[in-house]
Amino acid sequence: MFDTIIIGAGFAGSVLAERLATQQNKRVLIIDKRRHIGGNCYDRFDEHGVLIHQYGPHLFHTDNKAVFDYLSQFTQWTQYQHEVLAFIDGQKVPVPFNLNSLHALFPKSLADSLELKLIESFGYGVKVPILELRKTDDKALKLLADYIYDKIFVNYTAKQWGKKPEDISAEVTGRVPVHISRDNRYFQDKYQAIPSHGYTKIFENMLDHPNISLLLNTDFKDVFTINFDSGDMHFMENPFTGQLIFTGLIDELFNSQFGTLPYRSLNFQFEHLETDQYQEKTTINYPNDYDFTRITEFKHISKQSISGTTIVKEFPQDFDRNDPIKNIPYYPVFTPENKEKLDYYNNFAEPFKNITLVGRLAENRYYDMDDIIARALQVFSDKFT
Ligand code: FAD
Ligand code: UDP
Repeated sequence: MFDTIIIGAGFAGSVLAERLATQQNKRVLIIDKRRHIGGNCYDRFDEHGVLIHQYGPHLFHTDNKAVFDYLSQFTQWTQYQHEVLAFIDGQKVPVPFNLNSLHALFPKSLADSLELKLIESFGYGVKVPILELRKTDDKALKLLADYIYDKIFVNYTAKQWGKKPEDISAEVTGRVPVHISRDNRYFQDKYQAIPSHGYTKIFENMLDHPNISLLLNTDFKDVFTINFDSGDMHFMENPFTGQLIFTGLIDELFNSQFGTLPYRSLNFQFEHLETDQYQEKTTINYPNDYDFTRITEFKHISKQSISGTTIVKEFPQDFDRNDPIKNIPYYPVFTPENKEKLDYYNNFAEPFKNITLVGRLAENRYYDMDDIIARALQVFSDKFT
C-alpha cells in the first residue's frame, strides 16, 4: 500500500513526505502519536483567540536561502526580528549580552574601558562564546566574563539542563555568545520572519497531497514492528518492504538495548491575562529568579490586535517516559557519555539500509528548524533520488 512509512509529522518527517510524494510520486504514510501534525512547531489559537506555540516559542531564522525558498512555497511571511531581555540585578538587559547590556549594568567609565578592551581583543561585531571569553588573560575582561557567566549562564543552565555550562557541549551555551555589538537582536541571520498564517498552516500545505496519508494519535510501536535479526518489518501485521523514515527517539526505536539516552523536558504553563501587553519584548529570561527560565508573550510574535494577552512560562524538568507531565523529550542532553552511547546506536542502525534516521530526536542533534529542513532536503537528495 505504502512505499514509505514515516514516523513523526514534524519538519523532518513532513519535508521528506512532501519531497517523496511530489518529486518521486511515492505513496507515503506518516504516523504520529500526537493528535496533530507539526511536531514541536505546532501552533494553534487558544480559547481567547491568541495564536500560541503549544511547545514553546518558535522563531524562524536562517542564512540558508535554499531553506527559505523551499519553505516559501508553503507560506507567506511577516517580518519579525526576535529580541530577548534578561532580568539581571533588577534590570532587563539585552541577551545575547552585548555592549548595550554592558552599559546598562556598569558605570559609564568602567563600561567604556571594558568596551574598548573587548573591541581591541576580539573586534567589533564579533561573537565570543562565554566559555571562550572566560579563557582571557586580561584581568578586567576575565572579571567581566565571570560576571556574565554568573549572572546570565550558570543559573539558567542549571535550571535548563541540571548542569554547569562546562559540563554540556560547548555548542549549547555557544548558541548565545557575548556579542561585541550594539545589535540587540537574538539572531543575525539574513532571513528572519514568522509564517503569516502560523506554522501549522505550513504543515497543512506541505502534506496536502493525494499521495500522503496520515495516521495520528498512534504510537508507531502499536502498529509497526521490526525484527532486528532478520530486518523484517511489519505494518499492522502485514509485511512492509518499503522504506522506514524514523524521526522519533533513536533509543526507543532500538528498544533501548544500549541503555536509554537522557533528554530534558519542559512543563509549559500558559496564562491568559486581561491586559493588552504583559512585557516589553517577546521573551524575557530569568536566569537567577524563579523556577522557570523564561516568559514569552505570543502577541509580540503574532502581532494580533485583540484584547487580552497570553504568556507562557517554561519550567525545565527531566524527561520521564512514564509521567504524562514529563514525557515529551524536548532536548537531547549533549554530554560526552551520551555521545558514546549514541555511537552504539548509530553503528547498530548502519546496516539497515531500509531505515533512515533523521530529526532532532533520531539523530540526537540540537537542530533548529532551518537545520532540520536543510538536513531533510539533503537526506532526500542523497538517499531518495
Ligand atoms: P519534532 O518536531 O519533535 O517531531 C518529531 C515527531 O515525532 C513528533 O511529532 C512526535 O510526536 C513524533 N514521535 C516521536 N515518537 C513517536 C512515536 N513513538 N510514535 C509516533 N510518533 C512519534 N527552532 C528554531 O529554528 N527556532 C526556534 O525559536 C525554536 N524554538 C524551540 C523551542 C523549544 C522549546 C524547542 C523544544 C525547540 C525549538 N526549536 C526552535 C527547534 C525545533 O522545534 C526543531 O528544530 C524541530 O521541531 C525539529 O523537527 P523534528 O521533525 O526533528 O522533530
Ligand atoms: N543560556 C543561558 N542564559 C540565557 C540564555 C541562554 O544560560 O539567558 C544558555 C542555556 O544553557 C541555554 C543555551 O544557552 O540552554 C541555549 O539557549 P537558547 O536560547 O538557544 O535555547 P533554546 O531556545 O534552544 O531553548
